[in-house]
Amino acid sequence: MNRAVALLEPAPAGCGPALPAAGAPRPLRRAIYETVRAGGRVSRAEVAKALDVSPASVTALTSDLIAAGHLLETEGPAPAPARRGRPPVALAVRPGAARVAGLRMSDESWSAVALDMGGAVLGEARRAAPPGRMDADTVEEAAAALLADLGRAARVGPEGFASVGVGLPGMVDHPGGAVAWSPLLLRRDLPLADLLGRRLGAPVLLENDAQAATLAELWFGAGRFAADFAVVTIENGLGMGLVAGNRLTRGGGGLGLELGHTKVQLDGALCRCGRRGCLEAYVADYALAREAETALVGGSRAGAVGADLLDRLHAEAKAGHPAAASIFRRAGRYMALALSNVALLFDPAKIILSGERMRYDQLHSDEVIEEMRRLLIDSGRPPPPVEIHAWGGSVWARGAAALALQHVTEAATG
Ligand SMILES: [Zn+2]
Repeated sequence: MNRAVALLEPAPAGCGPALPAAGAPRPLRRAIYETVRAGGRVSRAEVAKALDVSPASVTALTSDLIAAGHLLETEGPAPAPARRGRPPVALAVRPGAARVAGLRMSDESWSAVALDMGGAVLGEARRAAPPGRMDADTVEEAAAALLADLGRAARVGPEGFASVGVGLPGMVDHPGGAVAWSPLLLRRDLPLADLLGRRLGAPVLLENDAQAATLAELWFGAGRFAADFAVVTIENGLGMGLVAGNRLTRGGGGLGLELGHTKVQLDGALCRCGRRGCLEAYVADYALAREAETALVGGSRAGAVGADLLDRLHAEAKAGHPAAASIFRRAGRYMALALSNVALLFDPAKIILSGERMRYDQLHSDEVIEEMRRLLIDSGRPPPPVEIHAWGGSVWARGAAALALQHVTEAATG
């Protein structure tokens, strides 16, 4: 393996995109706040230089932000030993100005994380997912229970969260606050942001879960300093997010990019969206599990299920079980097809593969990457590098929490 396998590190200082979003002018007050947040501890002079504005205008607006309780003055980084004197005064985000929550819903477990305004994790919570497809009442009930757990873990009282971001699989209309379709939900076009907002007592922002994972990269991970990159996620489904010009791409309808439901085979395998031949019907957990049952237990339903079944399939494939190995080999070839299509369509500077299923290394082996390269047009330039982030835990929820941080920031800075 010549590609780095990295875990998402907590940002040493600051959070949020370090580069301004292209084509999205922002009020100077917000630009100042976001520059300070991205840098962690930043002097007024550095802010003025970064934004190419006069120090006087920065001084006036920072006084205003300090008075309103959004920024504070702190000690800057210590001067070099050769230089004497007191450390310079720096600005920092006031972490306790508000607290936000991020929830991630999936069909196995739900996770939640509480952040302060500086992006520090205050607490985490996790619950098993409600079984089967849910009606609106079940979603509200489960979300309220998880948020109550989170409040206890983070020592945040009832209604103490200024905003809640929610990531879930499916076609999520971010600006409209509705879920057009999700494998978790019984109903189509559910106005989930309003329903949850009333129940949880805070504004709720929705996002597709792969988009939330992409936001986690952009706010807290390898994407903070990157302008253009794609994130491909494998969990129970196959998702994708794209950052172009330092901002998350959402389609015209706010639905984002549904890589998992692009068609790779006419009249192919049945997908959980109800159509045939979708990419995820060949790569996602349920696709592998469908074949694993046949390969390992002769078609009977006895034995392991879900993640246990896949772990067993993975171990058998590693040990040379021919049918088990062929299942991963085929899934890996479809993965190569997916990655080459992403590279051809979007020309990203890099592709980040993320999600818990990255521990099945056959899905991103050197052979898979080599096959991806063979499927690309030989332009004479190197194909985009592929990085693996085998995240677990609360990272997807942190991406959802970034939505809430953004929402609170916009409200606070005009
Ligand atoms: Zn589909």
